[in-house]
Amino acid sequence: MPSAPRRLPILIAAGAALTVAQTPPGIEPGVLPKTWLTGGPNCLEVPDWQVHEYNPTFYIIRESGCINYEKPFLYLIFGRERALLVDTGAGASDAAAVTAKLIAGWAKRNQRTTVPLVVAHSHGHGDHVAGDQGFAGMPGVTLVPATVDALEKAFAIAHWPDEAGAIDLGGRIVDVLPIPGHQPAHVAYYDRQTGILLTGDHLYPGRLYISDFPAYLASTRRLVEFTEGKPVTHILGCHIEQSSTPYVDYPIGTTYQPEEHSLELGRAHLLELLAGLERMQAKPVKLALRDFTIFPREPRPGRGDPKK
Ligand SMILES: [Zn+2]
Ligand SMILES: [Zn+2]
Repeated sequence: MPSAPRRLPILIAAGAALTVAQTPPGIEPGVLPKTWLTGGPNCLEVPDWQVHEYNPTFYIIRESGCINYEKPFLYLIFGRERALLVDTGAGASDAAAVTAKLIAGWAKRNQRTTVPLVVAHSHGHGDHVAGDQGFAGMPGVTLVPATVDALEKAFAIAHWPDEAGAIDLGGRIVDVLPIPGHQPAHVAYYDRQTGILLTGDHLYPGRLYISDFPAYLASTRRLVEFTEGKPVTHILGCHIEQSSTPYVDYPIGTTYQPEEHSLELGRAHLLELLAGLERMQAKPVKLALRDFTIFPREPRPGRGDPKK
């Protein structure tokens, strides 16, 4: 059951205490870390995976920059009947072993033997699917390939990309929204229990590579419409490339990012993204904003899909 919203006293400048609702009713709160490990300065001291429990049923997992400079974020969400893993990592990813350990720990804590797992993705780029093969043959695992066909079937998406689908994890619905534009088989996940919106590589504090501008713009509009009136506690993407200094990002390929931007963005960033895209509709251009950079890519015929 979602817990009642806690009330948190805050201090304003004059020192008077105010009380505000911490979270909207029905939304389960959680805690994000102040900083994340990246990759270095000494790789021997950096674990391959950093696991953060946002709350007891929502885990955020980050792959070390020492394994792959993309250092992507993965998300593991537990319902009463099944768990959902979004993405399987980059490079030499052993996400399956890590996930199996986390599921075993969760099951033990909840007096269960195990829980079935659905493995899906934000999209099909190599730095999000590299650990897929590790899940092959694992008992209780359903792998949803990062293709439009497979996503439509797995999440009951009737009309790609205009309609959302969903997955019921058991007392926990996660909406699945098609958002092509960065990559054709891209989706966002909205967890109704925490109010968290997972946006993959569509929106995160970094370089938002756009391979199909009209599709990306339409997807951003769809995200804005979908979230209208809904609680959005955090928008969490799959990378951090931005530094904590406004407008400044780390160079491509950086592994150690001691002053990186926070992972979390809010719905205001989504609106800022849409406004930026609408302004450049006639001529898409690279545009650095405070917390992310809009990065349209020239079509590169014959050179294939950029892997990022
Ligand atoms: Zn990526
Ligand atoms: Zn990507």
